[in-house]
Amino acid sequence: MSFTSHMQAALAEARAAALRGEVPVGAVLVSPEGAVVARAGNRTRELSDPTAHAEILAIRAACAALGTERLTGHDLYVTLEPCPMCAAAISFARIRRLYYGAADPKSGGTAHGARVFAHPQCHHVPEVYDGIGAADSERLLKGFFDQKR
Ligand SMILES: [Zn+2]
Repeated sequence: MSFTSHMQAALAEARAAALRGEVPVGAVLVSPEGAVVARAGNRTRELSDPTAHAEILAIRAACAALGTERLTGHDLYVTLEPCPMCAAAISFARIRRLYYGAADPKSGGTAHGARVFAHPQCHHVPEVYDGIGAADSERLLKGFFDQKR
């Protein structure tokens, strides 16, 4: 039982996203038994799809593989605080635990901004653990955006 190893896998997805010219965010979905069922990085540019965030792609892949619309008991590891769209998808998917790395005061939607999980309309709230592998995630994001300038 090591969540660090799953965040390392999420960070690997984030690095791969950076190499594709995408914002470096990675996500890994883990089954209740501890098996990785999906992993993804951002692909908004590649797919010309503003919803192709790592979390959405991982949730879609896991649901498709399992033939279900809900991922009850599954845990999601993501390198950056999810945005409001992804936070809503995490709630809809009934994710059990959310582990994320860096905080995102600009675009985050869980600890910042819309704070989706704190909203009374949010019918399923995952357990949230933040700051996991945050330094590595922040370094990746900073390196990516420094390069863009
Ligand atoms: Zn998102």
